[in-house]
Amino acid sequence: MGDLVLSNARLLDGRGGTLERATVHVSAGRVAEVLPGTAAKKGGPGLEVVDLSGGTLMPALVDAHVHLSSYPTLPPPLRGEEPRTPALRYFELANFARDLVSMGVLTVRDVGSEGDHALHLRQAVRHGLCPGPRILTCARIVSATSPGCRIFGTMYRPADGPYEVRKAAREQLAAGADFVKVMATGARSVVLETPETAQLTRGEVRAVVDEAHRLGHRVAAHAEGLEGSRVAIEEGVDTIEHGLSLHREPALLEKMAENDQTLVPTLSTFHDVSEDHPEKYPCALVEQAHRQREEAYNTLVAARTAGVRIAMGFDSYPLGQNARELIRMVDGGLAPMEGIVAATSGSAAALGLQGVGVVEPGAAADLLVLDGDPLSEPAILLDASRIRLVFQGGAAVGAAPPPR
Ligand SMILES: [Zn+2]
Repeated sequence: MGDLVLSNARLLDGRGGTLERATVHVSAGRVAEVLPGTAAKKGGPGLEVVDLSGGTLMPALVDAHVHLSSYPTLPPPLRGEEPRTPALRYFELANFARDLVSMGVLTVRDVGSEGDHALHLRQAVRHGLCPGPRILTCARIVSATSPGCRIFGTMYRPADGPYEVRKAAREQLAAGADFVKVMATGARSVVLETPETAQLTRGEVRAVVDEAHRLGHRVAAHAEGLEGSRVAIEEGVDTIEHGLSLHREPALLEKMAENDQTLVPTLSTFHDVSEDHPEKYPCALVEQAHRQREEAYNTLVAARTAGVRIAMGFDSYPLGQNARELIRMVDGGLAPMEGIVAATSGSAAALGLQGVGVVEPGAAADLLVLDGDPLSEPAILLDASRIRLVFQGGAAVGAAPPPR
């Protein structure tokens, strides 16, 4: 791959900085140089110069909370139809991966998929068998034996007691997990569970954190109610998923800021249950989601006030429309720039990734070029016709290749 010069763009660097006119030099898949002004260089053999005038250049999006295999794409089979092979799932996964790339979502953290689907998709993408984002996965979610285990089946690895949860964490890392996810509380999507109480004990959460951190991996905690969130924060998990109750106790948010822990508010998932797809859930869960949605927005604002790092986690579908979460965070009170920082460098930091979600020398050249200004019009991130170019490791993907 030759070198690439992206010239004449307005640059958002992913950390909150803006350059009104910038030139970005890409070499060997990485950002080599960021210069103010317009490129003086001319194209030639081994050097491609692309004029991005009128466009905004920014880091590709990073989603800190997706479920790659949780969503169907086909309508349910009709009676008498040919039975569907389970292998169709792999084609659906490949489609999801392609959809993410085409909308500029080039890094995702999968926080729970059926069986080993996310691990399989990660390999397929790495071997170039289908276009797809950089995938980090937890393999299976470590959970206490709970009603959710009956509903989520192979997405969970039930484990009880500090020894067993430690073993469960080791199993996930042995299977190739990038990080460990635990259920600190029950789930809002399970009638038989209350999300309010802590589900794993403090000793169990401590064992997982100790095991993962000792081996150099991070821990994500599903945490809805306050008590489970408290245990997860105090025991040192790296990211709090949902965390909607935290506005009730600002001291915990202050502790998160001090400890460099990240909140992934997942506002969209509460919209899913309360208003987008209420027909799919029992009434009690829909009512609960209305209350939780309000709490999640309150926590977003409280977390921002406390200086907690915020990451973007869509936790919803269709995959590719992940920036809906960014827009909801802006609707909920973040400035558009704060939303973009959350969806780029904030999420990358939550994942423990260096050189991702930023446009600076040494960073991966995962870049988005938008027609227009996402600060005044964040919704252009959802409009395929406004996504002019997507570069993955410096190569144009998911959009028309740059003019030569
Ligand atoms: Zn989720």
